[in-house]
Amino acid sequence: MTATVVVVGSGYAGAGAVKSFEEAVQPGEAELTWISDTDYHLVLHEAHRCVRDPTVESEITIPVEEIKSDRTTFREGRVTGLDTDARELELADGDTVSYDYCLLAVGTRTAFYGIDGLEEHALTLKSLPDAREINRQVTNAADDATAEEPAQVIVGGAGLSGIQTAGEVAEYRDETGAPVEVTLVEGLDEVFPGNDPEVQGKLRKFLREKDVGIETGEFISEVDKETVYVGGGEEEQPTEMSYDVLIWTGGITGRDEFADAPVEKDDRSHRVHADATFQTSDDRVFAIGDTALIDQGDDEVAPPTAQAAWQAAEVAGENLARQVRGAPLKSWSHEDKGTLISVGDRAVAHDVVGIPISTFGGVPAVFLKKFVAARWIAQVSSVGRAVSAWSDM
Ligand SMILES: Cc1cc2nc3c(=O)[nH]c(=O)nc-3n(C[C@H](O)[C@H](O)[C@H](O)COP(=O)(O)OP(=O)(O)OC[C@H]3O[C@@H](n4cnc5c(N)ncnc54)[C@H](O)[C@@H]3O)c2cc1C
Repeated sequence: MTATVVVVGSGYAGAGAVKSFEEAVQPGEAELTWISDTDYHLVLHEAHRCVRDPTVESEITIPVEEIKSDRTTFREGRVTGLDTDARELELADGDTVSYDYCLLAVGTRTAFYGIDGLEEHALTLKSLPDAREINRQVTNAADDATAEEPAQVIVGGAGLSGIQTAGEVAEYRDETGAPVEVTLVEGLDEVFPGNDPEVQGKLRKFLREKDVGIETGEFISEVDKETVYVGGGEEEQPTEMSYDVLIWTGGITGRDEFADAPVEKDDRSHRVHADATFQTSDDRVFAIGDTALIDQGDDEVAPPTAQAAWQAAEVAGENLARQVRGAPLKSWSHEDKGTLISVGDRAVAHDVVGIPISTFGGVPAVFLKKFVAARWIAQVSSVGRAVSAWSDM
């Protein structure tokens, strides 16, 4: 009997899994339906480039038709619920899609941690419309500003997205001469928290050289229409920072649509628990990418990165094919191949597999950053598209 497999999401996890499933499945074994709320794959880890230059969007959006084979059916729509008893996914338009096996690869949304006013006033960067809106608001604020009173852009959260976004705003200012000041605010003591001090130091240096203000060690405690309040407590007044544009990249949490999904999830974030084969507590439901907390042993889970998502996707697609034919599933463990982070036109590379220097910048780091993005684009689409995107990465 032909099984019905459904993949939800067209990010790295979903697009990668569709490709690897198509390669692994034998004719007649299964029918694949791919559902996503966009009919393109967004190279999200380069979305910050659109903040500087929105024309980059054509290079970082790949139509699903270019990714999937003709045998796979694509359905554009937002999944709003999962019914594991009926084995159905519910869609926003009221339709349902049945599955024998499904893979959840819907990423995450931005977390606001209940900080007063943050969700209401901050922009986020999780999608193409988000990137366009940041570009629109930064350019508008710059148009209304003067050299004496520059537009204030605050980026909250100095992880991968925050650092790279602040770098792009600074690059936009330097390329256009727009009167803009950009400040990165991080609650923990260092930029790129939880990482090696050498890479933190290098990033701090590059951000400073790009004239990005850095405020670390105090959390944003409240936001109103014009002001970000940082720190403060019962006996201490918070520091007030006025802003024109506030971009919040300080955390991720599970998608609301799956908060009630009947599979085991983290109580706080609702991200779905999955074992090393990507199976959830329901053995017909698999989960990968940022959506999932994938067990890596010793209470560790795979990191929420593009790199981890595309590594996992390769095995997840194959596991779906194995599940269909009743073969044993493969276990996956994340291999950290290093970190590449842009600060405008510069980049920092850290612990890159096969390279003996632990942390470096310069042309080699910029080249590697471009190469990794181009390799992914070539893998899901074509070498031609990767070559075309090269200069914008
Ligand atoms: C600005 C920025 C810079 C980053 N830089 C790096 C970096 O340098 N290196 C790195 O490794 N990682 C980086 N990351 C993190 C990386 O982008 C994520 O870890 C990665 O995108 C996760 O892939 P995913 O496929 O799990 O989720 P996503 O890429 O978020 O894809 C989720 C997909 O699901 C779809 N979807 C969501 N909800 C629904 C629904 N209800 N119904 C149907 N479809 C739905 C979405 O449209 C999307 O197609 C960065 C992230 C950002 C935002």
